Amino acid sequence: MVETSVFRERYRNEYIGKYYSGRLHFVFITLWCACGIGICLYYIQRPTLLQLAVIPLTFLYTNLFEYLGHRYPMHHRTRFLQAVFKRHTLQHHHFFTSDYMNYDSVNDLRIVLFPPVLLIFFSAFFVAPVFAIIYHFFSLNAALLYVATTLAYYLNYEWLHLAYHLPQTHWVYRVPGVLTLRKLHFRHHDLHQMDKSNFNISYPVFDFIFRTLK
Ligand SMILES: [Zn+2]
Ligand SMILES: [Zn+2]
Repeated sequence: MVETSVFRERYRNEYIGKYYSGRLHFVFITLWCACGIGICLYYIQRPTLLQLAVIPLTFLYTNLFEYLGHRYPMHHRTRFLQAVFKRHTLQHHHFFTSDYMNYDSVNDLRIVLFPPVLLIFFSAFFVAPVFAIIYHFFSLNAALLYVATTLAYYLNYEWLHLAYHLPQTHWVYRVPGVLTLRKLHFRHHDLHQMDKSNFNISYPVFDFIFRTLK
């Protein structure tokens, strides 16, 4: 715990600038996703059952993306994604250890939420091209449902991960299931377990399928 406190102080001095605002970071991510979802819902018109099937398919696709991204580049040093490894394994996992999981101040969100620039990057280079492909080969409704589901999934992921690093007395733990999900993430934060189990940060679908649920 002392070691973690020292790491936190060092991290704050080095990476949290005096103009950074955790509240603003949270609001930006929430508004970006909420506006995107709102725009999609506005343009979706009478979706068919087949088009609605995009929702569970997108859920599974993003859950797999979350699982693989976390299991491999975030926990293994790779040539092109060094920064992802550094931010997650070397920083997030040393800022929060299984015996010191709660954040101390709202500006510690800097190491919990994805940087806004990464969200814009993912939206432009991962979500937009898939939108274009689905629109081209299927329909506008299906493409909009894909974007809305991806943004909703991502926002839910960020909110859940933030909740896991809040004290257990927080009201969010009255929401059914959140406490159970938090326990899984706690186990993942054990430094001896972090590269072995519980790679789904939101819902452990692919941890279950790949037998890494502990
Ligand atoms: Zn975490
Ligand atoms: Zn991890």
